[in-house]
Amino acid sequence: MSVRAGIVVTGTEVLTGRIADQNGPWVSEELLALGVDVAHITICGDRPADLTAQLRFLADQDVDLIVTSGGLGPTADDLTVATVAAFCGRELLLDPGLEEHIAAIIQRWRGVAFDVDSGPTRAGIRKQALVPVGAAAVPPTGTAPGVVIPASAGVPTIVILPGPPSELQAMWPTAIATAAVADVLSRADELRQETIRAYGLLEAELAETLRTAETSVPAFDRLEITTCLRRGELDMVTRFAVADAPAYDALRELLTEHHGRQIFSFDESTIDDHLVAALGGRFIATAESCTGGLVAARLTDRPGSSAYVAGGVVSYSNDAKTDLLGVPATLIETHGAVSVEVAAAMAEGALERFGTDVAVSTTGVAGPGGGTEAKPVGTVCFGIAISGRPTVTVTRKFPGDRERVRSLTTTAALHLVVRELNADAG
Ligand code: ATP
Ligand code: MG
Repeated sequence: MSVRAGIVVTGTEVLTGRIADQNGPWVSEELLALGVDVAHITICGDRPADLTAQLRFLADQDVDLIVTSGGLGPTADDLTVATVAAFCGRELLLDPGLEEHIAAIIQRWRGVAFDVDSGPTRAGIRKQALVPVGAAAVPPTGTAPGVVIPASAGVPTIVILPGPPSELQAMWPTAIATAAVADVLSRADELRQETIRAYGLLEAELAETLRTAETSVPAFDRLEITTCLRRGELDMVTRFAVADAPAYDALRELLTEHHGRQIFSFDESTIDDHLVAALGGRFIATAESCTGGLVAARLTDRPGSSAYVAGGVVSYSNDAKTDLLGVPATLIETHGAVSVEVAAAMAEGALERFGTDVAVSTTGVAGPGGGTEAKPVGTVCFGIAISGRPTVTVTRKFPGDRERVRSLTTTAALHLVVRELNADAG
């Protein structure tokens, strides 16, 4: 990749961890999609000397582009524009048109009765309307305008954007359309990015196949591959120049040959997408114990989910399993609440209570204290009830703490439902 960038996230609230950084990852994704290689994301507080040090560092790395976020507000502690201008050796000039533009925005927000000419307000507006000589202002979507400073001797092109993620994202298209950024982007390779998702595949197994690929796939070294384990799924993201597409196609073929059973997506689609497709208009209900509603939350966390999610029961106590889902108390006594028998009865109970065609249940030992030798912490039983078919049960053992077990259980529930629905179809 020929064009490299660095991102500087400013803000003491981000540095201290009180707010999780959203801008670094967002800008990074955008730049990657534009064929720019992001070399660094750095974070500093609101101290100008620290910002200057990071700009110096990135310039020394020979990046072609720096994007900063934060510190564009009207108050004295928002110093990004002044600091970057000083770094670039450019003076600040008041842009009267921009000053009036910001004043008009504030007037609209605050109402006609508000006096934008009062001392502190006007001073804040003037501060935000200062633009480094030779730079382009990016019109504000909030009140803080952004700035694009073209490259000059030893200094890359610098894009300065506000901290609030919605403002930064709204201003991004204008920022990258400026002549200075367009010039940088014109030098970027045309890149493609492809994602393959697998479930039940170990990183080590994938690594072994990739080692095979090193020798068997021509131009394999032209592919930039990142693997990432997330919620029990293994994502493999590959970036490559358009000209190297044949290498990717060969790799994809090799992976299909070795791991076709575990790979469920070649096209960015998620297991949630596959579940909706597999339901094919049928409704699903949930009966959850150890996941406490996480499966229902996941199912309903998409637009249009009311067209296929009927609802769910969180039956944590044995009484709730009996009263709400009709699980016989004797069944629980005989087999224990964490058992395939109870999982099956829970799923069937949900199917009946909600009148759906599909139901899934979870009952397991998610946290410390509840485990036994036969059913240690992490043991989870699933029931998948599909009307007109015998109920299927599965027992899995997941590693990790409560949060991890619950998250892995939720993902597993979705995969199991998809597996059974597709087995149904085939
Ligand atoms: P403002 O005019 O709102 O002050 P600003 O450019 O000065 O704009 P900051 O003061 O740096 O922005 O941040 C304002 C708020 O935006 C922060 O308090 C925080 O809620 C949010 N924010 C800033 N940076 C980030 C970030 N990197 N990730 C997520 N939220 C952020
Ligand atoms: Mg601020």
